[in-house]
Amino acid sequence: MGGPGSGNRYRFNTKSTVEDSLALGMPDFRGRIHPHSSGTFTWTRWNGNKSSIGYFVTWTDCGPTTVTLHYRWDDTEDVRIPIRLQSTPTNFNGERWWFTCPLIVGGVACNRRVGKLYLAPGARYFGCRKCYGLTYRSCQEAHQYERFGRLLGVDSGVVRRLARRMSG
Ligand SMILES: [Zn+2]
Repeated sequence: MGGPGSGNRYRFNTKSTVEDSLALGMPDFRGRIHPHSSGTFTWTRWNGNKSSIGYFVTWTDCGPTTVTLHYRWDDTEDVRIPIRLQSTPTNFNGERWWFTCPLIVGGVACNRRVGKLYLAPGARYFGCRKCYGLTYRSCQEAHQYERFGRLLGVDSGVVRRLARRMSG
């Protein structure tokens, strides 16, 4: 367990890109979506502290299948956010899973079906690329995300490395 590390906050960056964000992709959950599944994704921060995102799957006969993400936000708050999952049939009787974006933007629930969720720099909750207005570095522009609040407190280089690892 590390201290709150005050004074070592990640600098607020007004240009958010996919590369700056923490990404959770459906491939990260391959083989993990079944009743009572739970686990943790862990990474090491720039100062050596470990950070992690836990999850557990809720799968019942009545009601949607969800994966609930839980993590410590900005060293101050325990965040717990259920993400509804959707499945679509594939060839050979398989099924493909998707996240449902949980964000509410401008009073409207996003509910987009996406294969990847992002925690943008400064954001408290995971959401889709559209909600956060994330762009790729080649066409940088940022909007929307300021409203989601303060910083996660994770070094951007670490986030980038993690994002690459998780998407790879
Ligand atoms: Zn969204």
